[in-house]
Amino acid sequence: MTTEPEVRVEDKLYQNRYRVDSGRSHIVVKPHDTPSPELLALVKVCPAHCYTLNDQGRVEVAHDGCMECGTCRVLAEGTGDLTWTYPRGGYGVLFKFG
Ligand code: SF4
Repeated sequence: MTTEPEVRVEDKLYQNRYRVDSGRSHIVVKPHDTPSPELLALVKVCPAHCYTLNDQGRVEVAHDGCMECGTCRVLAEGTGDLTWTYPRGGYGVLFKFG
């Protein structure tokens, strides 16, 4: 019996490449003083860890590692807390490097 090698998500993410559209984030978090529960959830559910809680307790996004899975869009765009579009053509994640 053969066993499959253990694969970590972080190792697979490392195989991706990104062409970052500097200064034109395809994800925008609505300015807020206190994050909604949906925004707070993004800090935990984004598989690429694009969302963080800053020193003021606000949720921030760094779009440069986004793999366009749409999880945050499904969770928070309907609340009005988030604007999500695909990156412009030629930018964003490039898969299949591993
Ligand atoms: S689309 Fe996916 S990878 Fe990109 S920021 Fe949202 S949850 Fe994270």
